[in-house]
Amino acid sequence: MIVNDSVEAIVSGQRRFYETGATKDVSFRVRALYKLRDALLAKEKEIIDALRKDLNKSEQEAFSTEIGIVYKELAYVIKHIRRWARPKRVKTAITHIGSRGEIHPEPYGTVLVIAPWNYPWQLAMSPLIGALAAGNTVIIKPSELTPAVSRVISELVKETFEQELAAVIEGGPEISTRLMEQPLDYIFFTGSVRVGKIVMQAAAKRLIPVTLELGGKSPCIVHDDASLRLAAKRIVFGKFTNAGQTCIAPDYLFVQRNVKDKLVSYMVEAIAEFYGPHPLSNPDYGRIVSEKHFNRLSAFLGNGNLRHGGQNDPGKLLIEPTLLDQVTWDMPVMEEEIFGPVLPILTYDRLEEVVSAVNDKPKPLALYLFTQSTAAQDQILNNISFGGGCVNDTLMHLATPHLPFGGVGESGMGSYHGEYSFQTFSHMKSVLRQTNRFDFSFRYPGKGGLKLLRKLMKP
Ligand code: NAD
Repeated sequence: MIVNDSVEAIVSGQRRFYETGATKDVSFRVRALYKLRDALLAKEKEIIDALRKDLNKSEQEAFSTEIGIVYKELAYVIKHIRRWARPKRVKTAITHIGSRGEIHPEPYGTVLVIAPWNYPWQLAMSPLIGALAAGNTVIIKPSELTPAVSRVISELVKETFEQELAAVIEGGPEISTRLMEQPLDYIFFTGSVRVGKIVMQAAAKRLIPVTLELGGKSPCIVHDDASLRLAAKRIVFGKFTNAGQTCIAPDYLFVQRNVKDKLVSYMVEAIAEFYGPHPLSNPDYGRIVSEKHFNRLSAFLGNGNLRHGGQNDPGKLLIEPTLLDQVTWDMPVMEEEIFGPVLPILTYDRLEEVVSAVNDKPKPLALYLFTQSTAAQDQILNNISFGGGCVNDTLMHLATPHLPFGGVGESGMGSYHGEYSFQTFSHMKSVLRQTNRFDFSFRYPGKGGLKLLRKLMKP
């Protein structure tokens, strides 16, 4: 951990460096991103080991959900950064003839990235890529709950960049608090709704702009015309990857009553197919991050009727993929984001019930809908607000640089990935270059221009 009084030194060092204008040069940014790429490749083995140590992620899971996704993001950003960074010409309004409108993307300055523990690599590295691409200096505060990954991130950044361009400050909430008291230009936070509110309050004191990537209860709706066997596989994949500790995991299942039993039986088959008959002894099954979270999750196991799973190992912090049937909205498992391998099952008869039940709750980060009917798709997509999601799949909307990723309402504000990251970490400066070749007098007072103005500016 860094000693407290050097937090100020790092921030002021980065601010001084930013003011030199070095990061404004797009070639400088491209070089930094290539350096980052080399460093990521060189550290791959260490990252895989650290993810195994902190969360028992298998190599396949570590690669697909953390490492590969960052490679893809980085390659995409390197390919397009020069185009994104260029000032763009826009149309000229009739009232502005002779002038030229331009949008100049400019970096904010010094950016703070606060990352959570559940995808500790991806959720620190993706914002780093976006912030560097946009020309900022960056300070990352990784989660204290995944110390092995936090160490690798810290070493990687230290070995790759001068501290005045990118730095890692390890520690818990006290370090975040200290950092947020600094004269920062942007805060990018990923974590819980509770801490998101604290971050926004701290940022408000200096009017620092924020992106908040938060969580919530993401519904997974299965209509009776869905391809049930495929839906079961994709839901099991989305829910039990990383032992359910995924911000966009399906939090609860909302299935049409007449297909519930069939869907559940396919899900039980998929669990056995992916994790074997005894997931607790599968060396690749994810573990719960801490005893506190293990105890919180264990308390849910008595809610509703245990339909599948429920075994756990407190010593190893493991909980089997678990399905809870006969769950109602007033049970504790439905009152907060689950964030673990426990899937409550609720049923509905008509889609209207789904729309009103989901809309009664805070806007979710993700929503998944399994149906082949376009009318049903339209009904859900047009009537429920959510951050992002999939029709006939889970999680995959996150893993593409072409879609903005973020929440809405209580699940967050702002978005990133690909060009959306570049935009998030850039201020879009509007510039109007006026001509001096002529000057319309009708805009000035006392020149009788009102009639013409009314004509030009009519609704
Ligand atoms: P958390 O909010 O407890 O912690 C996130 C970060 O904030 C950590 O670095 C932590 O040290 C720091 N922090 C904790 N208390 C703080 C305080 N009082 N002041 C300032 N900083 C503080 O979240 P977590 O437990 O690490 O992650 C789980 C949550 O994150 C879940 O709610 C999940 O849905 C959400 N999440 C969201 C996304 C997304 O992309 N939207 C991704 C992953 C996780």
